[in-house]
Amino acid sequence: MGSEKAKTDFRYDTGEARVPWAAIGENLNIDDLESIIKFIIPSGEDEFAYNQQMANVREEIKKLIGKGRLVSKLSMGSQVQALEKEVKKMLEVKHACFVTNATAGFEIGLKLSGLKPGDEVIAPAITFLSTITYPLQIGARVVLADVDPVTLNIDPRDIERKITKRTKAIMPVHIGGYPCDMDSIMKLAEKNDIMVVEDAAHAFGGSYHGKAVGTIGDFGSYSFHEVKNINSFGEGGIVVTNSEYGEQFASSRFGGFDISNPIDKWLYDVVALKGKGDHYSMAGNHSSTEIQAVVLLNQLKRLSGILKTRRQNAEFLNRQFEKIEEILPCPLDTDKIKGTYHLYLFQLDHRKLKGDIQVFKAKMNERGIIQIPHFAPLYRFSYMKQLGYDTESIRKTCPIAEEAFLHKFTHLPLYPLTEEQLSYMADSIIECVKEMKK
Ligand SMILES: *Cc1c(COP(=O)(O)O)cnc(C)c1O
Repeated sequence: MGSEKAKTDFRYDTGEARVPWAAIGENLNIDDLESIIKFIIPSGEDEFAYNQQMANVREEIKKLIGKGRLVSKLSMGSQVQALEKEVKKMLEVKHACFVTNATAGFEIGLKLSGLKPGDEVIAPAITFLSTITYPLQIGARVVLADVDPVTLNIDPRDIERKITKRTKAIMPVHIGGYPCDMDSIMKLAEKNDIMVVEDAAHAFGGSYHGKAVGTIGDFGSYSFHEVKNINSFGEGGIVVTNSEYGEQFASSRFGGFDISNPIDKWLYDVVALKGKGDHYSMAGNHSSTEIQAVVLLNQLKRLSGILKTRRQNAEFLNRQFEKIEEILPCPLDTDKIKGTYHLYLFQLDHRKLKGDIQVFKAKMNERGIIQIPHFAPLYRFSYMKQLGYDTESIRKTCPIAEEAFLHKFTHLPLYPLTEEQLSYMADSIIECVKEMKK
């Protein structure tokens, strides 16, 4: 067992020596475990009964430790490997790398795409701020493309208009979990020799023409943050690729050092990442923990059930809204396109109404529904202006995104709502829209 470990991580166990080198600090103990359980299952009303039960749990854990042993490997070990293996199998993809979050995955994909300062990256106007974090960090130029009015995903026709000689990457975002028009995007990318890094933060488990969403571009990155359909203990991401660049994944996540390779005579090397066009960049540290992998491995088993419930909720809402002509239907699955129903895309035909989505949201808030802001076009945030972008000009090139944000769309939740909650939401929506009729 020692020599097996020596090949996986030199920091923790160097093999058969009588005093093996093991650069580990304090192990977990029973107090740590009790704190974790108390954190995950905090006391309810009856604190006395809770404390009594916790004392029982502590006794049982003590007995359990007597029968087993406490783990010492907490970061980047067999569980992370098992997770990556499972994800590769599920998605039928060659390489998968578990990292701190989806944003770190975009960074790795863009580094391996050879992105450098001055290169251009095309991303949709409507997305979460982190799609473009890495390009902005290194001084690459972000070009925002307009969106499709039905799906609010990036519009390939606007990508085509905005491609230049300096375009290095396109970042399609499968917003709400509904797949982008990847056929058109990949055609443009191939024709112009541009890399595609999919923001599949919402889209783990979706498919497009028989392929897993996130595995169609050169890279794709999924989020397992606590708000997504499934999570890895609050934070996490997985970056995937079918390309040979995936061979650098192991070193791309930990400072250029591949801890899974055996080290001969303690002589080891640290490498920079070699991106497309032989551009080198420095790897960051995006390592994740074993406990995160354990949780995600478990949630993967529940994924198909979770997606099924969410799909049924979306279908229910579409049926409820069928007869209301001022509500545009949310795009659902087709034979070739399967979404993940992370969010329900709700759009109003505001020209047929008095007032728009802002009025609608105020009315909904009065009924105790949807109190969150919806995704805003990125040119509206200060960061782009502060970094020197002419956001006013960008806005003019994205009229659909602007109109949708101001007047037409919001996202509704689809998490396992109770039947009562779902019906209340649907009924309230219909009431609000009727109040807004001209
Ligand atoms: C959540 C989200 C991300 C970022 O995911 P992290 O795992 O938190 O980095 C990226 N893009 C979109 C569209 C998101 O909603």
